[in-house]
Amino acid sequence: MIYLDYAANTPPEAEVLEAFCSVSKEYIANPNSNYLLGVEANNRLRKATEQIASLLGTQGSEIIYTSGATESNNLAIKGVAGKYKKYGRHIITTFLEHSSVTGPAVYLQNQGFEVDYVDVLPSGLLDLEHLKELLREDTILVSVCWVDSEIGIKQDIERIAEVIKPYKNCVFHVDATQAVGKIPVSAEVADLISFAPHKFYGLNGCGVLIKKENILLEPQIHGGISTTAFRSGTPALANAVAAEKALSLAVSDMDRRYEYVSELNRSLKEGFKKYSGILINSTENSIPFILNLSIKGVKSEIFQKELEGFGIYVATKSACCVPNTVSRPVYALTKDRKAALSTLRISLSHLTSKEDVEFFLDCFDKCYKKVVFGGQEHFYGKI
Ligand code: PLP
Repeated sequence: MIYLDYAANTPPEAEVLEAFCSVSKEYIANPNSNYLLGVEANNRLRKATEQIASLLGTQGSEIIYTSGATESNNLAIKGVAGKYKKYGRHIITTFLEHSSVTGPAVYLQNQGFEVDYVDVLPSGLLDLEHLKELLREDTILVSVCWVDSEIGIKQDIERIAEVIKPYKNCVFHVDATQAVGKIPVSAEVADLISFAPHKFYGLNGCGVLIKKENILLEPQIHGGISTTAFRSGTPALANAVAAEKALSLAVSDMDRRYEYVSELNRSLKEGFKKYSGILINSTENSIPFILNLSIKGVKSEIFQKELEGFGIYVATKSACCVPNTVSRPVYALTKDRKAALSTLRISLSHLTSKEDVEFFLDCFDKCYKKVVFGGQEHFYGKI
């Protein structure tokens, strides 16, 4: 089996699982309980939170734990809309976003908010001139992904922040789910930052939203207090410690992993050069962990199934997307509907071996010959 879908989910590191188990056994009390066992659990939670915060250049008081990046994005977007609507109802986002950003944006549009989408340049970077044109006095939120989940484009978040800065009532939210643990991320640059440890060898069921102290948010889950007033529920201490462990491990090995995965990415691109029917959608601004391509004339799911026959697992799009639909990010980048229906997303890891890549390329060739030249029924006829 060769798993090449690390952008969708990663296997937890042994040390992360160990941390989760030992903390679960050691601290049995609710961190919000006011007796000694509760206070001890709370102290451990604070320690983990401070450590996560310091790895990302922020304060522990700015960390909100959630159930995953989807919830973090929902809380950020709907939470800002709820508190800032007195200043305006205009929101700006992009077509590169994960459905957990476009979903709440569309939801808000149906509630009477106005949503605009920034154009994407051929490089994959956002068109900042267009962003400047879209920004208005009543813009209350700009939501942009640091790295998008399908093409892996890394946006220039610092420059985007500069463009937004003059708009005092406009909150800048960054979905950093595909960035944290893979590239340096400093929380200072945005007002709100979302991510989830299961993308960097942590556990599922945990997410983080970093919120600058001066930013207001309408809670989306009402109840008592947790670690903060913005998201109720018993604080999940073991999840927080596991998140801290996963982040520490990822950050400490970040440069080596980046270099190694870049090498794998180059080998893959080299291997794809011989196919005239392949378009590489990832650009020079994509991180090496994600390589997106389109196979001309072939519907994504057909090729994916063929690869699966060899025990190779790749994605067609982001795992949360509706199958058999266009890849929104690829369409935004290429403006080519057929290319956006023929995408494969290969996502790499430091756990991927060079032999895995060779085997993948070998099997890819067999699938390509069968599907493209073999006259098999596929999407819109043979190329
Ligand atoms: N944002 C991005 C960019 C993602 O890639 C994902 C997951 O694929 C999410 C948000 C949602 O993350 P979660 O599965 O933790 O809800």
